[in-house]
Amino acid sequence: MSVRYQSDFFGDIDADLEFDAPIGAMTYYSVGGKADVLVSPRSTDALSLLLRRCYNSNIPFRVLGKGANLLVDDLGVDGVVVKLNHNCFKTSRFNREGPIDALHIMSGYDLSKAIMETARCGLDGLHVLAGIPASIGGAIRMNAGGNFGSISDTLSTVTCLSKAGELSTYRSSDLGFAYRESKIPDPVIISATFSLTPGDPIHIRKSVKDIFAWKKSMQPLADTSAGCAFKNPINNNGERISAGELIDGAGLKGLTIGGASVSQHHANFIITTAKGTARDVLSVMKDVRTRVFDSTGIKLQNEVVVWSRDPEIQR
Ligand SMILES: Cc1cc2nc3c(=O)[nH]c(=O)nc-3n(C[C@H](O)[C@H](O)[C@H](O)COP(=O)(O)OP(=O)(O)OC[C@H]3O[C@@H](n4cnc5c(N)ncnc54)[C@H](O)[C@@H]3O)c2cc1C
Repeated sequence: MSVRYQSDFFGDIDADLEFDAPIGAMTYYSVGGKADVLVSPRSTDALSLLLRRCYNSNIPFRVLGKGANLLVDDLGVDGVVVKLNHNCFKTSRFNREGPIDALHIMSGYDLSKAIMETARCGLDGLHVLAGIPASIGGAIRMNAGGNFGSISDTLSTVTCLSKAGELSTYRSSDLGFAYRESKIPDPVIISATFSLTPGDPIHIRKSVKDIFAWKKSMQPLADTSAGCAFKNPINNNGERISAGELIDGAGLKGLTIGGASVSQHHANFIITTAKGTARDVLSVMKDVRTRVFDSTGIKLQNEVVVWSRDPEIQR
């Protein structure tokens, strides 16, 4: 246990603790090291107290969602990693507000479950995200989406905890949502509301199936990855272009370093084998960035979030 956590740092916080927790193995990549401590708070109050204490003591604080967009360095991460996996962070309820249904949902809720439930109830909106693995919190932070829409399209409000452990509710229009990014000022998303329009349940369920089938045909969903490694960049004409096509155009499909390679199926997916390490993935990403820049002059930006003890790697 780290010296910083002696003197009963967690003593009065209602939470499950796991020291030296293998969080890399909890991500979709299944590579990477441990967190000093993984904390699963049993209430929002406990999470609020933990947050305040970490920030007052200068202890790094991170939130782990489903780990579907995350690469944890092999040396792990310092400080506290929080996982919102207690039931209090996994509830949802509907309120009818005129012709629109408002879905209130906690951030630890599974996105695919929310998609299936709203589709079953004949509510239009979240189905555009079919096939994207995420918790509601992770999907909001990343503004998850694709060809059919983004999570911010139907998002009304987001409730967060600040560094001081205080709750604030923001209108989504104030949160700077853009392509695969948000400008949420607080470290933890606690819950959200969505405005969903009633529609035909049969039609919505068919859209879920069609979108999933499209995704499966376009992306290597059976391989181990964290989705797209890079954001689609903007070219000199101000148009967003496909990072996958740039990587493919540079002849990099199949590029392999150790146990990580550029997928043959979709060049923006970096996939790993059982022997892969986080440093293998980082090396492939670095090589891809350099070679795409050399051939096109375009700098690719990470879409995948990297956690490391080394600030140079985390950047
Ligand atoms: C096979 C595959 C396909 C994918 N396809 C797509 C796609 O089509 N479109 C797309 O957008 N993404 C896609 N992704 C990436 C990923 O699914 C999304 O980015 C998703 O939103 C990540 O959610 P998560 O809960 O796993 O977040 P994590 O990966 O756990 O975390 C991502 C970031 O969100 C933060 N975060 C998580 N929860 C909270 C919270 N409660 N409060 C504050 N911050 C939080 C984390 O700290 C981290 O910075 C794909 C991934 C895979 C593996």
